Amino acid sequence: MKIGIPASRGYAIGQAFIKKHVELNITEEKVQDVAKEKDLLRKACEKSKVQLEKIKKKALDSMGEEKAMVFDAHLMLFDDPEFIGAIEGEIENNGLNALKAASDVSSSYVAIFESMEDEYMRERAADIKDVAKRLMNNLAGIEDSFDIEETNTIVIAHDLTPSDTAQLDKEKVIAFLTNIGGRTSHSAIMARTLEIPAVVGLHDITESVQNGDILIVDGIEGRVIIDPDHETVTKYVALQEAYNQEKEELKKLVDVKAKTKSGKRIEVAGNIGKPEDVHKVLENGADGIGLFRTEFLYMDRDDMPTEEEQFGSYKYVLEKMEGKPVVIRTLDIGGDKQLPYLAMPNEMNPFLGYRAIRLCLDRTDLFKIQLRALLRASVYGNLKVMFPMVSSLSEFQKSKELVEECTVELKAEGHDVSESIEWGIMVEIPAAAVMADELAKHVDFFSIGTNDLIQYTLAADRMSEKVSYLYDPMHPAVLRLIKMTIDGAHSQGKWCGMCGEMAGDETAIPTLVEYGLDEFSMSASSILRAKQVILEQE
Ligand code: PEP
Ligand code: MG
Repeated sequence: MKIGIPASRGYAIGQAFIKKHVELNITEEKVQDVAKEKDLLRKACEKSKVQLEKIKKKALDSMGEEKAMVFDAHLMLFDDPEFIGAIEGEIENNGLNALKAASDVSSSYVAIFESMEDEYMRERAADIKDVAKRLMNNLAGIEDSFDIEETNTIVIAHDLTPSDTAQLDKEKVIAFLTNIGGRTSHSAIMARTLEIPAVVGLHDITESVQNGDILIVDGIEGRVIIDPDHETVTKYVALQEAYNQEKEELKKLVDVKAKTKSGKRIEVAGNIGKPEDVHKVLENGADGIGLFRTEFLYMDRDDMPTEEEQFGSYKYVLEKMEGKPVVIRTLDIGGDKQLPYLAMPNEMNPFLGYRAIRLCLDRTDLFKIQLRALLRASVYGNLKVMFPMVSSLSEFQKSKELVEECTVELKAEGHDVSESIEWGIMVEIPAAAVMADELAKHVDFFSIGTNDLIQYTLAADRMSEKVSYLYDPMHPAVLRLIKMTIDGAHSQGKWCGMCGEMAGDETAIPTLVEYGLDEFSMSASSILRAKQVILEQE
């Protein structure tokens, strides 16, 4: 048995799939033997076609003809004399190696399709990217690490990036396990959003299991049992049933509003990373969205989302929430969240470095695209915007100046902007908590980001399983800062929420209710349990 950090509740019994971590190494190296390189390309195309035929067949069985047709389009590209011919041309005429030639040609195809007027044609760029990725992986001999074919799969990795986690196919993946990470690393947060059990910080799980091993994952106690005997399987099947039954029973609270016994109404909201996550939040009867981590819109792609794309996502969430509050956080990139297409400095302490609002105030070109999208979407619902990682008032003020600039521009262009947007900050740096009463004079609300606040207060990296014993939400210093923040907000008649994982921690909720926290925002899967705990408070 292996013991790690329980990161997402629930039980799973399935087979191991070990995700290999391999980067494509594209070099400028020229080829000597052109015929050999063209042969490599041909073989990679053949291999890709065989893979695609398999996927297409599965898609036909599971999703129907229409979805499967997408793979016909992919297959056709491998026989397209223009596309493949252009790659061959680069090998023949410019002596490029096949990998570099495939990368260059596909990038230029993608750029052409992305610049087209016609939306259908623009969408084809995504198909070319998929095809190019498959072709390049096959050229480099890399197995597509997320080509998971079996259902009941437990993914095992050294670490999963947030975008890896976002790609997990819930139809097939029933749990995941990682060597590193803590309860508040972003892959753990994503697991709770996906509602699949996860255990992280297992040190050497990638070495301890083989592909295909049968595993039991206990996401409540943080246990992994490798090749269990019959008796153990029976025991866990019973635990799983009891857990599912308990979840079923909590459903009676979907339409119940959270109130303490003395009648104090408390908002219970959901955290989301992608617009589609809004459905799970609504299914669980949330009062609103307390944190939309917009950086996920920027991940799992090769370029920045445009103003139009972002506008579409924000409008979607606001409309689906039908007037309920939606707190959208501006881009919080850096720390454990990186974008493949945004060069970031190599820092010794990325969590203390160039991230979140610091990056946005430096790259106002990127920031303004997001602010414009938010302002345009504001007329479709009840929007509140907050800035991450604020350490001093000037960062909030500079951000608000950019908001003003964007508002003037948008109005001149004929767009409507809501007059009632609330502007707040995340309190996740101790300096902000200490200065909360002053900051509260300027902002409309606070949302406490305990995931970061705890790591900065206790100097215990939230990603490190080695110091996870220090990472204690109930440490008196953390509690004191939380209380100061809530009191600071209330002293100026402002509201204070919490969107860090502590808000959904049933052992912390009673203390937070006592401190007067107004809004609790958490993964959708924690909402009903949190309501139950609040209903039991005096
Ligand atoms: C936090 O720090 O508590 C928070 C909610 O933000 P993130 O986890 O995205 O850093
Ligand atoms: Mg944070």
